[in-house]
Amino acid sequence: MSTNGSASARDAVVAELRAARKLLIVTHENPDGDALGSLIAMQRILTQLGKDAVAFMAAAEFPLPPEYEFLTIGELASEPPADLGERTIVFLDCGNLERNPAEAFRGPEAHILNIDHHHDNTRFGTVNLVDESASCTAEIVWGLMHGLNVTPTQAIAEALYVGLITDTGRFMYENTGARAHVMAAELIEAGVDVHEIYRRVYEGVPFGKLALLARALANVERYDGGVLTLSALSVEDFRQADALESFSEGVIDHLRAVQGTVVAALVRERDAAAGDETLRKVSLRASDDRVDVSEIARIQGGGGHRQAAGFTTAMAQEEIVEFLREAVAQQLAAVT
Ligand code: AMP
Ligand code: MN
Ligand code: MN
Repeated sequence: MSTNGSASARDAVVAELRAARKLLIVTHENPDGDALGSLIAMQRILTQLGKDAVAFMAAAEFPLPPEYEFLTIGELASEPPADLGERTIVFLDCGNLERNPAEAFRGPEAHILNIDHHHDNTRFGTVNLVDESASCTAEIVWGLMHGLNVTPTQAIAEALYVGLITDTGRFMYENTGARAHVMAAELIEAGVDVHEIYRRVYEGVPFGKLALLARALANVERYDGGVLTLSALSVEDFRQADALESFSEGVIDHLRAVQGTVVAALVRERDAAAGDETLRKVSLRASDDRVDVSEIARIQGGGGHRQAAGFTTAMAQEEIVEFLREAVAQQLAAVT
């Protein structure tokens, strides 16, 4: 069916949401502000329409990052429900099906609405609404909310606003358009207290997060004259800093900001059970248009946006560094 962000794709999704009686709302693992904000807002919008709408998040996602704990989730399941076959599954902010850990959604019988803003979305849904011009998935959800004639409650407005500010880097990343600001204005009129949300999301930082940032900054390496700025955090770094995995969010912005950096990378070692192979999650950011980091991430089975992408790999730290140097050099050679 519709495979883009066109008006017809939007209308198709609005019609699907109107017609469905029972829905399950899901998002990607290690949910960020856009994932959580979109999930929570969509669940509340559908509940307001009288639907049986349940949000799904695996137990392993908890505790959520402390900056998002103030967002209260409506009805929530941590296992795919027994009546899954009767539910329309709404995927939010997931570029591919594997971004959600539950196997239950992978069967051919799953009826999936795929709502996302990643340009490399694999269009895995029964209906796909992929709008790469949207600053965040929350912006698409906001449009759907209008299509469904729902007036946002304060809780819906706050959830959407969190998605908006986190994915746009507080209205500063290149994905920030006029629509993002129009949306912000509307959400403020619907009751968002800007300073209060800022305080909750960006202040009240757990000390462990600062301690982890200190370690990440101490571990920074620069390659190829500073073109690649990279840091790594080991399991031991997390332990010493008394930090949760989610505390590393935002670290990479410090690396990208360094003068001369074309690509910033943060490599995080995943805690593995004894005997399991060590995996590393690699986050990538590009500082300008010369390099498309989603292309680099896709080589390793990941993906994302041109300027923000990621992948998970079994490569050793040194191999990752060599791979990134080579991939960045190749793209730079192609544009100069
Ligand atoms: P992160 O570095 O985790 O903040 O992610 C940056 C962007 O890349 C986000 O838009 C993610 O959705 C995307 N991304 C990160 N990891 C993956 C992955 N393994 N597969 C696909 N997309 C990813
Ligand atoms: Mn996301
Ligand atoms: Mn997003």
